[in-house]
Amino acid sequence: EKIKYKKKKNMTYDDDNIFAKILREEIPCKKIYENKYALAFHDVNPQSKIHILVIPKGKYISFADFSENALPKEINGFMKAVGKIAKNQNLVESGYRILANHGQNAGQEVAHFHIHIFGGEPLGPMISKT
Ligand code: 5GP
Repeated sequence: EKIKYKKKKNMTYDDDNIFAKILREEIPCKKIYENKYALAFHDVNPQSKIHILVIPKGKYISFADFSENALPKEINGFMKAVGKIAKNQNLVESGYRILANHGQNAGQEVAHFHIHIFGGEPLGPMISKT
């Protein structure tokens, strides 16, 4: 079944962003999990022992875009994937952190929505004070 995406106003998605290229398999990734709505792979520059990125397959720039414009089934499929990956990585008992950077103050680098999953060791304070 083909997913129908809504036409978005006021925001333009850059088809050349690095995660779009990963989705098109133009550049490689260390894939962990995939379902109809999400792809997960290891971060190329891990900030903790386990550092996984989960991205929606749809073209969403950031959390603001995804939360406003994604279809319920896309949000559901994506969030289910995040939970399943954490579970499959044995992070539920030891604990993990999920994070999404939106925009400038958060330092978002890649303009395709993604959730980071950190774990595998104690993660320290929630926000760096430096
Ligand atoms: P942001 O700062 O946008 O929340 O996070 C972007 C993340 O993408 C960073 O943690 C960065 O290391 C990761 N990243 C950037 N380019 C690539 C890439 O080509 N492959 C993978 N696997 N991760 C990438």
